[in-house]
Amino acid sequence: MIQDIFPHHFSNEYQPQTAVQPEHLVLHYKDDTLLLKRTGDIFTVPQFRDLPPLPEHSECRWIGQLNHTPCFLVLGDISTDHPSLIYEDIRFFRTTQQKEIAWLCLVGLHLSNWYKQHAYCGQCGSPTRQKADERALECPNCHLVVYPKIAPAIIVAIRSTNKLLLARNANFPDGWFSLVAGYADIGESLEETVRREVKEEVGLDICGIRYYKSQPWPLSGSLMVGFTAEGNEEQPLHLDGVEITEAGWYDRNNLPNHPPALSIAGEMIEKFKQGIL
Ligand SMILES: [Zn+2]
Repeated sequence: MIQDIFPHHFSNEYQPQTAVQPEHLVLHYKDDTLLLKRTGDIFTVPQFRDLPPLPEHSECRWIGQLNHTPCFLVLGDISTDHPSLIYEDIRFFRTTQQKEIAWLCLVGLHLSNWYKQHAYCGQCGSPTRQKADERALECPNCHLVVYPKIAPAIIVAIRSTNKLLLARNANFPDGWFSLVAGYADIGESLEETVRREVKEEVGLDICGIRYYKSQPWPLSGSLMVGFTAEGNEEQPLHLDGVEITEAGWYDRNNLPNHPPALSIAGEMIEKFKQGIL
């Protein structure tokens, strides 16, 4: 999966007292693009020394460490007219061979989005500020403390004898299928989310829900929690017709197009294909 970057190592331990140094890595996002440094055909994350002097309103915030090198997020507009600095679509993570860079850039995107979306207090409207001792924002007026927003979502591999249930979301290209997934709602356990989403999307009753693995998915600010479950292919499918437009049972030798193993869905489908899920 995309967060598996061995032999590289990313640590998100929060060290807000560390000041940015010239050799530290810096990430700056503009919409869905990321500032990268180009050397010939090679793209790398710039070091702080590569950036022009930051304007007064800009701020560097701690992300974590990649292979023990501190990484910072640069917030605010910066001047980037140097020819070696370019904004690259964040989707480069799907094709780059540098998986450690891809993962750092996705984690940074989640943090960047969270900081931008919580620049003002949701309770009183005052500008928020970084809390000194933990990764959180606080309101100096009403003292509301806001922690990073992570949306838990389930994804479930439903099996019946030697078949796997796959569904086509309305947003997928024709012919592409994946597992049933959906966000946890307020007031329900993850197991309840699994049962509800499966019933809503494809009309099935399931049993034997078992935890598989989890995967942070920074693009949507989610934490995907994977499960396996058992269904009965004799039970008729009732698709919601809105989110899910096609679904069916597939044996492991006849799987349709599906996500690659970068995602937890792709990994589970691949393991089913290999007979180990
Ligand atoms: Zn407030």
